[in-house]
Amino acid sequence: MSNLTSWVDVDLDALSNNVKIIKDFIGKTKMLAVVKADAYGHGIVPVAFTAIESGADYIGVSNIDEGILLRKNGIEAPILVFNTILPEQAEKILQFDLTATVCSLDVVQALHEEAKRLNIRARIHIKVDTGLGRFGILPEHAPEFIRIISTDFKSVDIEGIYTHFSAASSESITRMQFNKFQSVTKAIQESGFNIPLSHACNSIATVKYPEMHLDMVRTGNLMYGLSPAGNLNIKKVAGVFSRIIFIKNLPKGHNIGYGNKYTTKRPTTVAVIPFLDIMMVLNFRCPNPAV
Ligand SMILES: *Cc1c(COP(=O)(O)O)cnc(C)c1O
Repeated sequence: MSNLTSWVDVDLDALSNNVKIIKDFIGKTKMLAVVKADAYGHGIVPVAFTAIESGADYIGVSNIDEGILLRKNGIEAPILVFNTILPEQAEKILQFDLTATVCSLDVVQALHEEAKRLNIRARIHIKVDTGLGRFGILPEHAPEFIRIISTDFKSVDIEGIYTHFSAASSESITRMQFNKFQSVTKAIQESGFNIPLSHACNSIATVKYPEMHLDMVRTGNLMYGLSPAGNLNIKKVAGVFSRIIFIKNLPKGHNIGYGNKYTTKRPTTVAVIPFLDIMMVLNFRCPNPAV
């Protein structure tokens, strides 16, 4: 620490407070803490520990490797992998007790066979594409998809069903997506299936549309203090800092920097900030000393 002149400070106490504020706001709804992409640059392992310690119920990552990294570092909470997997990755999902996002039968079949072989059960969340056009089955195919899974793939438990909003700040687009999702979950319920966790909201939707919280919300940006928080007392978690390491006075008409793009218009005091050698510093309280 002592030789550092530029650093990113990740305030895990602020993160912890944000998680508690979100939990308070959503009441009985569960909170999935999104820690994909190295927790948006904040450090995936300490962020995941802090989020769980502070009351988050579920962890969300993009891919299997992020999930495995968390398991190897001692995270025991349920972990949902957002990206759909390839059938050959079924074994890793089960080996590390991850929850797979599913939107095709080949993946369900691979999970079912692997689970049977290991004499365990596979846990999946079904993704419904209500408008983003990325992962997910189309709403009209969802009831049949679920019927097939529950009759033909007995080693697979459907724990959740979810969708992702494509423009959460637009109320009309989001309502349309939400209504599509609601008609799917209703149709499924009416045909006698009970899926414990329906979820749709990302950060912006969590704040803007409390009536869409359902059983769980998936918050990333809000938890890090990076998206509009309405009346919630959310704080930014990361700050970028640097020391000034040199100050000098330049005369009028002197160049500053490469490419000679700026010339001083008057005698000018110049400070140099050594920003190229920036390093990550975490003030974390992580229960695993190896991290
Ligand atoms: C990234 C992501 C989120 C979190 O989005 P934020 O806007 O950061 O809250 C939620 N759900 C899924 C599926 C995601 O990929």
